[in-house]
Amino acid sequence: MYQEMILDHYRRPRNKGTLENADASAEMRNPLCGDEIDLQVKFTGDSVDDLRFSGRGCSISQASASMMTQIVKGKSTAEVDDIRNRFRELMLGDQTAASDARLGSLRAFSGVSRFPARVKCALLAWNALDTVLVSRRD
Ligand code: ZN
Repeated sequence: MYQEMILDHYRRPRNKGTLENADASAEMRNPLCGDEIDLQVKFTGDSVDDLRFSGRGCSISQASASMMTQIVKGKSTAEVDDIRNRFRELMLGDQTAASDARLGSLRAFSGVSRFPARVKCALLAWNALDTVLVSRRD
């Protein structure tokens, strides 16, 4: 079931494209796998108003980006930090994260933690989001 969810987002990515009037953007590459993610974010106050990504690569990297855009859209940067940290813990094999409802569909990636090389794929979009949030704080 989880594998199907990842394939669904890979085949029909959500929020893919270019964002007009983005406030910040970041590009991330994963040369080990050939994954690319370009992320654009628009903020309203302290919240993620909208975001889009473009890119190419393996199903895990692209599905992770697609699901990420869905879950962080409309959230405050503090909430985004919380989800991002929890997702990292999931990727490190934290079993409590695997049953954390806050992660929603991101729990589909829980099996990826067994494959360290693929963890980099799953975290690529989140690292791009990290860069955007850090640049905004400066
Ligand atoms: Zn990959």
